[in-house]
Amino acid sequence: MADQAFVTLATNDSYARGAMVLGKSLRNHNTSRKLVALIGPQVSEPCQSVLKRIYDEVRMVDVLDSGDTAHLAMMKRPDLGVTFTKLHCWTLTHYSKCVFMDADTLVLSNIDELFDREELSAAPDPGWPDCFNSGVFVFCPSMETYGKLLQYCTEHGSFDGGDQGVLNGFFSNWATADISKHLPFIYNLSSIAIYTYLPAFKQYGGNAKVVHFLGKTKPWSYTFDPKAKRITGSTHEATAHPTFLLDWWSLFSSAVVPMLQEQYGDQPFHSGCVEGESFPSHAQALQPQLSSEERKEKWEQGQADYMGMDSFDNIKRKLDTFLK
Ligand code: UDP
Ligand code: MN
Repeated sequence: MADQAFVTLATNDSYARGAMVLGKSLRNHNTSRKLVALIGPQVSEPCQSVLKRIYDEVRMVDVLDSGDTAHLAMMKRPDLGVTFTKLHCWTLTHYSKCVFMDADTLVLSNIDELFDREELSAAPDPGWPDCFNSGVFVFCPSMETYGKLLQYCTEHGSFDGGDQGVLNGFFSNWATADISKHLPFIYNLSSIAIYTYLPAFKQYGGNAKVVHFLGKTKPWSYTFDPKAKRITGSTHEATAHPTFLLDWWSLFSSAVVPMLQEQYGDQPFHSGCVEGESFPSHAQALQPQLSSEERKEKWEQGQADYMGMDSFDNIKRKLDTFLK
């Protein structure tokens, strides 16, 4: 087991917070595997220290600084910066098998059984199920594969501008070749699915093992009142949202914030925890009111405000009125 690891990536302090919560959630569910965080040079000292307390290995990957092939690839495709950093996970050859997890994922139960799977195993993307979602995937580190991936990247780029496009291009037979490489959706449950197929969510959502806060608004974009256990960075509807966001914040505020406090010492830092009443003005500043035209446009781009205006409760209320 010492040669297998969970791997994540954080290029800045925001994603580092995600990585801290993810690492804690893996530990809380007693993983027997190593934990590795790849970080970029922008991650601050205090955040690096906290990551080092949670992870077995914290490795700096500075694509710009490195003399390796990734640097050369980067010169040709500067648009794919974070993508090249993510591909670095294939260089972790002191492990024989790894599970990559986005920093915006949260583990809800032990998932060590994922190591029974082979490269490249992943769950379908909710937006285009013939593509896998690259937020959770099983892979085998190998310098050979790493080289091929970089070459693929420079030659073909990424059809979506990110790592998911590159990886789906490279592992292009995923959809049809081997069903055992299709991870059940419960290993990468995105909140989008709750709204696109609510009965299925009600039926199977309780079995979720990993939630993925995919999309523009991340858990750390909100604020949280730890006493009232409320999300305060959005309209009050968010409190009735399925509890995943609250799960993230309870773990962050109880386990991670004290560690950050210790590292920052006297230096001020913004924990995201706000005690007392929720602040409507603050909420509106974070989530500006959109016209219904703008909202429709956002919906169509897959960017519904699930935590606020387009929350489950609001959608349900609307449907109920129609059905009546
Ligand atoms: N990431 C990062 N810094 C960035 C953007 C992304 O470290 O500025 C990493 C992080 O691990 C993140 C992953 O790349 O979880 C994929 O990006 P994101 O989760 O934002 O994409 P989404 O899942 O929303 O498509
Ligand atoms: Mn993600």
